[in-house]
Amino acid sequence: MNETLIIGGGIIGLLTARELLHAGSTVTLIEMGETGRESSWAGGGIVSPLYPWRAPDCVTALAAWSQRAYPALATALHDETGIDPELTSSGLLILETEALTEALAWGESHGQRIEVIDSVYLHETEPELGPRPPHALLMPEIAQIRTPRLAKAARRSLEQRIPLREQEEVLELLVEGGRAVGVRTSKGAIHADRIVICAGAWTAKLLEQLGNPPDIEPVRGQMILFYAKPGLVNHIVLFNERYIIPRRDGRVLLGSTLEHTGFAKTTTAEAKEELYRAAIELFPLLRRTPIEDHWAGLRPGSPSGIPYIGAYPGIEGLFLNAGHFRNGLVTGPASARLVLDLMLNREPIVDPVPYAMNVERA
Ligand SMILES: Cc1cc2nc3c(=O)[nH]c(=O)nc-3n(C[C@H](O)[C@H](O)[C@H](O)COP(=O)(O)OP(=O)(O)OC[C@H]3O[C@@H](n4cnc5c(N)ncnc54)[C@H](O)[C@@H]3O)c2cc1C
Repeated sequence: MNETLIIGGGIIGLLTARELLHAGSTVTLIEMGETGRESSWAGGGIVSPLYPWRAPDCVTALAAWSQRAYPALATALHDETGIDPELTSSGLLILETEALTEALAWGESHGQRIEVIDSVYLHETEPELGPRPPHALLMPEIAQIRTPRLAKAARRSLEQRIPLREQEEVLELLVEGGRAVGVRTSKGAIHADRIVICAGAWTAKLLEQLGNPPDIEPVRGQMILFYAKPGLVNHIVLFNERYIIPRRDGRVLLGSTLEHTGFAKTTTAEAKEELYRAAIELFPLLRRTPIEDHWAGLRPGSPSGIPYIGAYPGIEGLFLNAGHFRNGLVTGPASARLVLDLMLNREPIVDPVPYAMNVERA
């Protein structure tokens, strides 16, 4: 393979560039802002879909592959860059139990450990937790990754090896005779043999010129961060569609909202209040803990959260890896490997059909 351009330097673009490098390709990555500062920075970094039994099977397939790949990836990035992305097996505690039978059956059929725990054990394992349902679900093997560090490490590992063209927006795809030949950016034209679009929430905007953009739209998510001490929260805890994530240094994140507000990446006082209330309901001691930060990110929303991975129909040399919605961190490593498999005509790691551009998403 010759020169490949990657458009978008979020986690999907960074990992796709890494795969291309490992395959011996020449890569250039173009990012309109700074790499790893959009959704991939804002995300919580849970290495699992939120209520995993609700995820479409094709998302589960990417998540399961990535869950197996993450330990080696995190170690490699740490060794290469000195930046530890803090992959941590905190375990996922789910306080809703109305779907108990469904969740257990899903765990059984997908080889994922799910245990039912009683309120006594719940109290032992999360002593500061407010709600005390008679039962909860624990997925002890679920991990989290510290998103800003993951993107920083991925960037650092690439920066000596490929051109990273930041602060350069791709304005137009150059297509000649049904073949992608390059892009026009805010700084001029760049020619290439292959282009992979990893532009997250902006993907459809970029592909509008081709007349048939994928169904990807921005979905805002807001989070708050508490400057807490280690030990207050021990697991990732999921309750009422809200989750709390404890980092190794004690900080805890509470997320997140789901808002269809276009490309506005602003935070709102209402969301902050709502997230704060959810946090102190879950862990009342957080009342005494300062909020350190509050931010918003734009998820690349797609129907059923199924990403578009593979060739763009009708244009040779053009590929997509975008639309990962709420699961781009957990599905990122598999998505990057899969798009490469398809570009190189290798045996794909999973059945690629559900992610194809022309497949109807429910
Ligand atoms: C609050 C929140 C919580 C989340 N929690 C989780 C979680 O716990 N687990 C999980 O798996 N996922 C989570 N996600 C989702 C996850 O963050 C995304 O699915 C993932 O980051 C998408 O990665 P990406 O690289 O496609 O997009 P991005 O990180 O947004 O990267 C796309 C990049 O493309 C660039 N770009 C766009 N257009 C152009 C252009 N024309 N020219 C040049 N560059 C361009 C952008 O500047 C951007 O840097 C969360 C998201 C949010 C917002």
